[in-house]
Amino acid sequence: MEKDIKIYNSLTGSKDTFIPINKETIGIYVCGPTVYSEVHLGNCRTFVFFDTLVRYFNFLGYKVRYVRNITDVGHLENDADEGEDKISKKARIEQLEPMEIAQKYSNDFHDVMKSFNALPPDIEPTATGHIIEQINMIEKIIDNGFGYVVNNSVYFNVNKYISQGYNYGELSGRQVDELIAGSRSLDGQSDKKSPNDFALWKKADSSHIMQWDSPWGKGFPGWHLECSAMSAKYLGSSFDIHGGGMDLKFPHHECEIAQGIGAGSTKPVNYWMHGNMLTLNGKRMSKTTGNTILPKELFSGNSPLLDKAFSPAVVRFFMMQSHYRGVLDFSNEALMASEKGYKKLMEALNNLTKFDHNQKDVDLPLSDKIQSICNSCYKNMKDDFNTPKVIANLFELVSIINSNRLNTIDSKTYSYLLNTMNGFIENVLGLELVGPENAHLTEELIKMVIKLRADAKTNKDYALSDKIRDQLTSLGITIKDGKDGTTFAVK
Ligand code: AMP
Ligand code: ZN
Repeated sequence: MEKDIKIYNSLTGSKDTFIPINKETIGIYVCGPTVYSEVHLGNCRTFVFFDTLVRYFNFLGYKVRYVRNITDVGHLENDADEGEDKISKKARIEQLEPMEIAQKYSNDFHDVMKSFNALPPDIEPTATGHIIEQINMIEKIIDNGFGYVVNNSVYFNVNKYISQGYNYGELSGRQVDELIAGSRSLDGQSDKKSPNDFALWKKADSSHIMQWDSPWGKGFPGWHLECSAMSAKYLGSSFDIHGGGMDLKFPHHECEIAQGIGAGSTKPVNYWMHGNMLTLNGKRMSKTTGNTILPKELFSGNSPLLDKAFSPAVVRFFMMQSHYRGVLDFSNEALMASEKGYKKLMEALNNLTKFDHNQKDVDLPLSDKIQSICNSCYKNMKDDFNTPKVIANLFELVSIINSNRLNTIDSKTYSYLLNTMNGFIENVLGLELVGPENAHLTEELIKMVIKLRADAKTNKDYALSDKIRDQLTSLGITIKDGKDGTTFAVK
């Protein structure tokens, strides 16, 4: 099944034609969240993009095995090999079991993804559930001469890897000399033969609350190794697409390539895809710096950054309006504009689905124009998943729908138009939170209830107005009183 899809491959630095290993089924692995806190909107951008990618492959008729893991151990504070485990640290602070922390934030992550209408992955492996696979992979790496044991920890030997002709840095473009010059002498690093080496398995001292038996003593797996072991288990030692945010290129994904090769694969991944960052005030949104906004703050409007609440569909549309490889800056104004566009698009889709098409005199140029715009939607999505261009195409179709000329197009063109609008908006972009018919009715009903609450307030019946607000909240409808009246968002 040749679909002529072009993917920007971070490994080659070019847009490459996508040729799946197995013609009908595509294997995709996306690095999942480290579940020690709530996901912020930046994390969501990456996951929502890969959801769109999976949706598009499905839409084209491919079968996809989509694996997205949960990192519940091994991700240390400084992303390299040192510092406390992020989950253990949170467990210590909150006085909970590490697994309680992992469960709590996995549940939160799932709820958030559901609200964004993201499809669940086909397999969602956890790192703690795959310790045996990780130990097996480390043994293979050691047997092949790329791993060494020091003081009950195991490290990957980067210099050995390079001396065998492999290119450590091929993905991130980093030069090993640069890495050595830039690396600080970190606590425990003395165990390594070279500062570039990275941990496959780390010895745990008795105070470490997450540890497992291994051939090298009690310890825990390295973060990079988890993804290599889990992707190989479910997708094979060589698979199609591996994704994540740009920040994971180095060291995480660079190390994954080295580990895959070290364990015997010739090429663990064919297409490496990296989403660019969501920024806030021009700076990367990040848990560590606290420069974040949480989905729940957006949906409730409960944030000094926002004038009002925004529905998950509007936020998803906002993300889709930019190309995944470009930086996207978050702002209240940008969301306001997206909301306007989103409503216009959904209204047109609603009108189109309700439209009773009775072909009159056929306007051939108009039919041709519609067909060519519909073709462009496919073409643009196949060109490295260019969602902003697809949205621009959809708005060209919206103008035609709103021009009341649909009875002058032939029925074949009409069905193509309907299928394209429906398919791209709902199946591919995933903007299908409420059916268009119900969306309008729901919106009017909520506005009516909000008006009743305002009347209660005017009559100083605060008990009633509070009751209305609380009941709306319990239904997942959050309201926010602002200078321009009350706004709402549906979870
Ligand atoms: P983490 O839980 O930190 O491992 O991150 C989960 C995913 O979110 C990874 O794919 C990151 O690359 C991605 N990510 C983190 N920050 C951002 C951001 N500001 N914009 C887009 N993606 C991000
Ligand atoms: Zn990963």
